[in-house]
Amino acid sequence: MTTTSSSILPSELEDLVALFDVRGTDTPTPDAEREAALASPRFGTVFTDHMARISWRQEDGWLDRRIEKYGPLQLDPATAVLHYAQEIFEGMKAYRHDDGSVWTFRPDANAARFARSAHRLALPALSVEDFVGSIAALVRTDAAWVPSGEDSSLYLRPFMFASEAFLGVRPAAEVEYLVIASPVGPYFAGGVKPVSIWVDEEYHRAGPGGTGDAKYGGNYAASLLPQQLAADNGCDQVCFLDAATNTHLEELGGMNVFVVMDDGSVHTPELTGSFLEGVTRSSILRLATDRGHEAVERRIPLTEVVEGLADGTVREIFACGTAAVVTPVGRLLGSTFDRQVGDGEPGALTMEIREQLTGIQYGRVADPHGWMRRLA
Ligand SMILES: *Cc1c(COP(=O)(O)O)cnc(C)c1O
Repeated sequence: MTTTSSSILPSELEDLVALFDVRGTDTPTPDAEREAALASPRFGTVFTDHMARISWRQEDGWLDRRIEKYGPLQLDPATAVLHYAQEIFEGMKAYRHDDGSVWTFRPDANAARFARSAHRLALPALSVEDFVGSIAALVRTDAAWVPSGEDSSLYLRPFMFASEAFLGVRPAAEVEYLVIASPVGPYFAGGVKPVSIWVDEEYHRAGPGGTGDAKYGGNYAASLLPQQLAADNGCDQVCFLDAATNTHLEELGGMNVFVVMDDGSVHTPELTGSFLEGVTRSSILRLATDRGHEAVERRIPLTEVVEGLADGTVREIFACGTAAVVTPVGRLLGSTFDRQVGDGEPGALTMEIREQLTGIQYGRVADPHGWMRRLA
């Protein structure tokens, strides 16, 4: 999919950040209040003082690059996104290293995916330069909001939506792009715990030729009912099967999935166009190969996994994505099966890969592929 190292040089980053007009808030959050929020962050509930923003008009293109006070948007009730869901988003993190510097992970990969998502939703393409520049400009303005606690980070949410007030069905001629940021603590407070997964054999989040490989809110809307059914069945997460045959693993609601076999090989569903190509997924494929494991992208039948868990050929299962990094799966449940994964504890390789990936992100171990990009 993407290049393994960032193509934007630090010197160029300065120029990209300089394109953003910083209109700082005159009512910043008091230091004590910010420190309290950083001490016990809850995912996606507290936001920094500013947001990055660029507007798009069909006749003018992208204009008015700015950092402005975080706050509500005023929308006409006829705004297209509210009716036809023409929107896309990304999810990334800014990590504080021990020396105080702030970094992000493979931003060019997110920028490239954002452009692919925009194409599928008939939204205008945003350049890699504007994508990375907007993130760097926001993180620099709100650098005090990047937490320094263990496994804490500043979650970054770039998004783009149809802002034209118009009820006709066509791509909007007015679009807004924004980046908001929220401090987040460790996903697993009190240690990594395996999650249980409900395999949904009834509903799908996406199908062939649909929007499943775009980071698009509509895919999430389609996954909410199945996620509720997973919870009704006592599970933490839902896993979807391919819509065409209902027999192969695709992904979870917001994470990709990996299976570790007893010969040490690491398998993940091959890209079909109906689920998302995670940056974490492609990074893990690389790290597993580096570590001497055979890394295989292929169609993975559910029956093979269910039988493999019974006879021991499947040793570990884990899910992965930016938010939770690597999440061990301890139990796989469906309408006709209920299997424990290994001894129910996090798998050894799962945890090794998790350690290496978070080590790279927090600057604790070497970054052999040049994935990290300094923001501040
Ligand atoms: C964002 C996302 C992922 C994970 O992608 P990363 O780039 O690894 O964060 C997986 N599946 C879906 C549906 C997603 O939206």
